[in-house]
Amino acid sequence: MKLKGRSYKNNQPIEIVIDGEQIKSKVPCNEQLPDHFILGPGFTDIQVNGYGGVDYNEIYDEPVKLTSISRLLYKEGVTTHLPTIITNSTEQITKLIRQVISLRNADEQAKWSIDGLHIEGPFISPVDGPRGAHPKEFVRAPDWNLILQWQEVAEGQIKIITISPEWENSNTFIEQCLKNNILVSIGHTCATHQQLQDAVSAGACMSTHLGNGMHPMLVRHPNYLWSQLADDRLKTSIIADGFHLPAEVIRVFKKVKEDKIFMVSDSVSLAGMPPGDYDLHIGGQVTLTKEGKLHLRNNPSIFAGSANHIKHGVEFLINQNLATLTEAWEMASIRPQELVFPGNKTFQSGGKADIICVSVNDGMLEVIKTIKNGKEMYVKGN
Ligand SMILES: [Zn+2]
Repeated sequence: MKLKGRSYKNNQPIEIVIDGEQIKSKVPCNEQLPDHFILGPGFTDIQVNGYGGVDYNEIYDEPVKLTSISRLLYKEGVTTHLPTIITNSTEQITKLIRQVISLRNADEQAKWSIDGLHIEGPFISPVDGPRGAHPKEFVRAPDWNLILQWQEVAEGQIKIITISPEWENSNTFIEQCLKNNILVSIGHTCATHQQLQDAVSAGACMSTHLGNGMHPMLVRHPNYLWSQLADDRLKTSIIADGFHLPAEVIRVFKKVKEDKIFMVSDSVSLAGMPPGDYDLHIGGQVTLTKEGKLHLRNNPSIFAGSANHIKHGVEFLINQNLATLTEAWEMASIRPQELVFPGNKTFQSGGKADIICVSVNDGMLEVIKTIKNGKEMYVKGN
């Protein structure tokens, strides 16, 4: 298969030859191509709770229902995602992991898109504010034996775990994760400066959705926000849906973190659904506005998760002049890829052919074609 378009990197015409699952070559070409037809790496979203009416945090009679998430995300340019399972009882987390694995084993399109699992909790802060919407009754201290059990059920697919290092045994836990190739991210935390520094020295290398999952009012300093911003060893994910973080906060985070910042959607089941009032199994009575803000029905100031896909984040950064198209695209693709899958040659010869063709008009991205492992997973109009 051959693809021609302008490179997302410099707008120059390129030709990509795909052989099997891989990019065989990517070279400049001297054809006249339309200005707005752009080729780039598919998006990678390492925090997806749900999408299009279903959620990885619910058990279904027919787990295959969840395959719709991968298919709907291909339509939005996401070629890789990590289902994210949040704080719950140990038995329920086990069941939810088993459900994702059976889904991967039953459906090839889902298997290709799901390249691991992100476990967010239950080893987070029990404190109101930092804990966010995670149920307090199931929050607990890090337990390596549980991870061993879960990783066995997950057939080795657990790639990231988000914890708070405020628990006493955090550092040994982090070291064990590292030895077993599980990336440790800091999130939903109330840890002290010292605890955070120790956690990073032990191997924690990322902050989960920095700026969210925090107290509404914070001691001016020291606090866990400054500590994580100041530590150059920490990369950070942000939710750039336009609601979770004001543009000026993203601007500051970007200045401080430079190329160590990237995007996640943190989407929940109502992402990709029409606006309206919904009764959710997780989250209760909520309202999804036409602008895409998801809040508790009786309190518009409390978020009920994110209802946007990662492409929306790319558009938000471009339209707010927070990033160029190239940088915003990399924040949703190459940067998370390099963090979670080091060694993958993303959008390079010899790498997996995970490519999207996008039409860009007035800061809006329309996916024309999504290619995963060299195969067309979505073509506009088909
Ligand atoms: Zn969270």
